[in-house]
Amino acid sequence: MNPAQKVVFWLTAKGMAFVRRHYLGMAAGYSLEEVCGHTFTVGRQKDCEALTDYLGKRYGGEAILCKNGRSGLCLALKAYFEPGDAVIVNGFTCYAVYEAIKAAGLKPVWADIDRGDLNFDLKNLEKNIDKNTKGIIIQNSLGNPVDIVAIEKFAKKHNLIIIEDLAHCAGVRYSDGREAGTVGAGVAFSFGKDKSIDTVSGGAVVLRAPCKHKIKAPTKSPRPSDHLRARFYPMLGATCRGIMVIRAGGVLMRFLIRIHWVERSADNKLDLTRKISKFEARRALTQFKNLRKSGEPALREFYLVENRDEVLRELRLNRYFFDGLWYEKPVSPERYYKKVHFPEAKCPEAVFISEHIINFPTYYSKDKLVRARKIVEKHLIGGENG
Ligand SMILES: *Cc1c(COP(=O)(O)O)cnc(C)c1O
Repeated sequence: MNPAQKVVFWLTAKGMAFVRRHYLGMAAGYSLEEVCGHTFTVGRQKDCEALTDYLGKRYGGEAILCKNGRSGLCLALKAYFEPGDAVIVNGFTCYAVYEAIKAAGLKPVWADIDRGDLNFDLKNLEKNIDKNTKGIIIQNSLGNPVDIVAIEKFAKKHNLIIIEDLAHCAGVRYSDGREAGTVGAGVAFSFGKDKSIDTVSGGAVVLRAPCKHKIKAPTKSPRPSDHLRARFYPMLGATCRGIMVIRAGGVLMRFLIRIHWVERSADNKLDLTRKISKFEARRALTQFKNLRKSGEPALREFYLVENRDEVLRELRLNRYFFDGLWYEKPVSPERYYKKVHFPEAKCPEAVFISEHIINFPTYYSKDKLVRARKIVEKHLIGGENG
């Protein structure tokens, strides 16, 4: 190599390292290779078949792939409940869950949660049971497992059907060693933005127990616009976070959301007839096979802080980009909260937690979070944090 070539070589290497560090490395948990992989993957029918097969075996039942998580959850509810049945739900969740319950014709009964793990416990369940209660939806909030042994016993005693919602907790293990998704009659999965399996959208259901009602698998192909959006999300997301360095990323992200090129997962529409896109099925299968081993930290580590707006401001000043917290209302996002008629008086902990919680998006690596944690730790509400 002559000196000029050496300089060019050196500059290229430096430039690529910079791009990696400040740019694509910040995509929603996606590495540079994965952003390219997701954007340019070609999906085939056999990718859908492979994922269906894999889920059926891993979770022990009949798997059906769906457009998104709420559609999967809705199918699970339709399979095991009669319209009008009441189901107990975690009083700290995503609007998607409410939508699924409503679309299945069921009545949500909101149970208050515990500060330690953001889940309902036995005492909250007992307060909410009556003769119309036919089931429980377990969420394992932000990857923190519920006390499954106690809840299973409770469900048996009262003849309740358990449904597991794995949006936050694919791969998580309960205290007795069983994997989340191997306990309930039905199991729903979301592959939405920032979920434990993230292909931007998509979902599934595994029917483990014999169904009361026959369930039809979706047959319509995804819309071309949904295809495009799903395909380019990781790249656009990476771009936005990359240019946070010059503070324009947030502006661009808001613009992309406005023109519906990036969809917040809460805005994804329930649709029982649409199939998942084939390339998403392919990405989801890869992610299932690479799921973190048990014992690793939860999906989003969380803290309860005294003055959240101030903490968020300080984080922003330090160039952290938060596109929404989980959850800023007991049923989030805020723009749909009124529709839910949430019983705030009955769930004071859920209300308190939703006003004070901070949690970190999945697209920040452990190293990147060290400084964020330092900022948050100055404002903690004493002694009771996760
Ligand atoms: C996001 C989410 C879902 C489903 O989300 P989709 O956007 O429909 O894929 C279900 N349950 C919980 C708890 C969620 O956070």
